[in-house]
Amino acid sequence: MTTYAFRCQECGPYDARFPIGTAPDRASCPECGGSSVRLITAPGIGRGSDPYRRAVERTTASADAPQVVSSVPGSGRRAPAVTTHPLHRRLPRP
Ligand SMILES: [Zn+2]
Repeated sequence: MTTYAFRCQECGPYDARFPIGTAPDRASCPECGGSSVRLITAPGIGRGSDPYRRAVERTTASADAPQVVSSVPGSGRRAPAVTTHPLHRRLPRP
């Protein structure tokens, strides 16, 4: 689905989503039902999906304004020094 821009003569510009290549040249306005024409704009296909966009925004925000912490991360819980998994006994020893 791609976002296309339309302009209603009564209500002004609005966006509508259609599969790529299926957007009509004229559509009915979602508010007044009047005829509106499609505007020539760059297709909005480069923005990606919502989870992808949120991940990119979160990464960008952490690079620009990193989270401030008051203690060393991970200091509250430590992994056991010796593993208790039975298969780990078979591993070669130094
Ligand atoms: Zn309208």
